[in-house]
Amino acid sequence: MITLALSKGRIFEETVPLLKAAGIEVLDDPEKSRKLILDTNQPGVRVLVVRATDVPTYVQYGGADMGITGKDTLLEHGSQGLYQPLDLQIAKCRISVAVRADFDYASAVKQGSRLKVATKYVAIAREFFASKGVHVDLIKLYGSMELAPLVGLADAIVDLVSTGNTLKANHLVEVERIMDISSRLVVNQAALKLKQEPIRAIIDAFAGAVGKP
Ligand code: AMP
Repeated sequence: MITLALSKGRIFEETVPLLKAAGIEVLDDPEKSRKLILDTNQPGVRVLVVRATDVPTYVQYGGADMGITGKDTLLEHGSQGLYQPLDLQIAKCRISVAVRADFDYASAVKQGSRLKVATKYVAIAREFFASKGVHVDLIKLYGSMELAPLVGLADAIVDLVSTGNTLKANHLVEVERIMDISSRLVVNQAALKLKQEPIRAIIDAFAGAVGKP
């Protein structure tokens, strides 16, 4: 049995064509079903529906043989013991710094001001601002980072940006692009040895389908 850990939403939707290239079709819709283990048309393949931030943990400890997760999650939560054979080029976005449109970020940085930064990406933000020599107080949030500058909780946020519509709707502007993000295939190293043939077949099928519509 091969177990693949996926999160609901964009990653699941953009993984469907890759699975199809490997001859795998998930039989339930995770948006409609309450099941957490989904069967596929292949009796030897099943899909676990887990939180995006839990995918590396499931794969690292062997709860799943493979998983798909964003580079943001791997950088923030660590990727110890995970084999990362492929950038799947899905769920593409960027991780950026954004501020209120009326906040003069460039001057604040130039003057060496201490910035309050709200984010769920504390490790990524810490490293980024340290590399720029900017002093920051990091405020950990778990969601809706965009709200923090609007109510004075923070001067800036570090968050994922895709179209930029969420920032625009909240009168925020992107002032730094920290890095581009996409989702990666991660594989448990012991599983790769023990179930080499079926796992290699899936990796090869995904590799052949990457970037194709
Ligand atoms: P957008 O309005 O298209 O710029 O999307 C921004 C919102 O969607 C933010 O709340 C982000 O946290 C979230 N978001 C954007 N891209 C992704 C992604 N690839 N994975 C997860 N969340 C995302």
